[in-house]
Amino acid sequence: MADVVIVGGGQAASSAVARLRAKGFDGSITLIGDEPVPPYQRPPLSKTYLLGDMALDRLFLRPEAFYRDNAVTLKLGEPVTAIDTQARTVTAGGDTVPYGDLILCTGSAPRRLPAKIGGDLDGVHVVRTLADVDAMAPRFTKGARVLVVGGGYIGLEAAAVAAKLGLEVTLVEAADRILSRVASPETATWFRALHESHGVTIREGTRLARLTGDGHVSGALLSDGRTLDVDFVVVGVGIAPCTALAEAAGLRVENGIAVDAQGRTSDPHVWAAGDCASFPGTDGAMRLESVGNAIDMGELVADNLMGEARDYRAAPWFWSDQYDVKLQIAGLNTGYDRVVVREGAGRSHWYYAGDRLLAIDAMNDSRAYMVGKRLIEAGKSPDPDAVADPDTDLKALLKA
Ligand code: ADP
Repeated sequence: MADVVIVGGGQAASSAVARLRAKGFDGSITLIGDEPVPPYQRPPLSKTYLLGDMALDRLFLRPEAFYRDNAVTLKLGEPVTAIDTQARTVTAGGDTVPYGDLILCTGSAPRRLPAKIGGDLDGVHVVRTLADVDAMAPRFTKGARVLVVGGGYIGLEAAAVAAKLGLEVTLVEAADRILSRVASPETATWFRALHESHGVTIREGTRLARLTGDGHVSGALLSDGRTLDVDFVVVGVGIAPCTALAEAAGLRVENGIAVDAQGRTSDPHVWAAGDCASFPGTDGAMRLESVGNAIDMGELVADNLMGEARDYRAAPWFWSDQYDVKLQIAGLNTGYDRVVVREGAGRSHWYYAGDRLLAIDAMNDSRAYMVGKRLIEAGKSPDPDAVADPDTDLKALLKA
């Protein structure tokens, strides 16, 4: 019997494994992942890796020797198809694996375009796994015409790589502006201008009506009646948490796999971490889709399995790379009513709800990001006028 079985082979799984061993857990650990490779970093897939600037071996979170040296059994390329919480077993690839505790790190899956609008044509790609990106990357050749569907970070990062490599890029966003789910109009406007300066055509308030082609995609009809000739399509229309396995096992699911503040699901021997998990936040249950959350929750569950009884305190952070711009985000802007713009070394947008600082977007301004992050984590809210004043020493805000 494996004392701990982990379902999923992404960042949360990898963090949980490393933390268990770092804390001296000496039981057996089995990690079962449906992808055929050991845990790797996902963020570079739509950035440097897609651009061809990052070698495959640098993508892996830990070398294979790590798993061997730490007595972690990897079962890769095999989806877990069932969990029996009574018998405390999981089924994977015909094997029944017993567990003492189970950690679900099933992550999320990209939403796809429906087949009835041509979503199943060859040349229509999503950006989630290494296999997805390896399949798509050879199409990123100079002069190729790509349609990017969705103006979230995935779509924008793919568009930036494509433009950099000399492709002809059109991006359609169904909402009235890009980044509408995650960023302010100020940030969206700034990024739209950045993309347009690199020759990307952005059509907001426009959805993809239909893709056409005989086997391989060759055309697109947009909701505004325009038609486009395309060589391939990149779809970045969001992700959905992978909860089917948990749901079939009778675990409580609400948006994600519901966990308590310590990361435990409705079954005391089953835990969940990362994108797939819905945890108690300040304003009700929340779910975060970020590497930071995967790392922190993976470690939380490991600590609590070791008996620490620690509650989760999410400290959200995120980044995006587009062209020569590094965007760094700290906090969550949900509920903001004001955006304060600061032009310093770079540019930063500070989100307030009343007098309370909620979040910051910093473009090529890592100092503003660091200061903003520390202020948010400390629950401090600097005077917005001081933030907006380029002469204010940011570090001084921390001491106030
Ligand atoms: P991701 O993490 O994939 O970037 P987001 O949810 O942040 O996901 O962004 C996806 C974007 O795609 C949203 O801005 C959403 O409005 C947009 N979108 C969703 N469906 C369509 C569609 N059919 N056509 C164009 N844009 C779409």
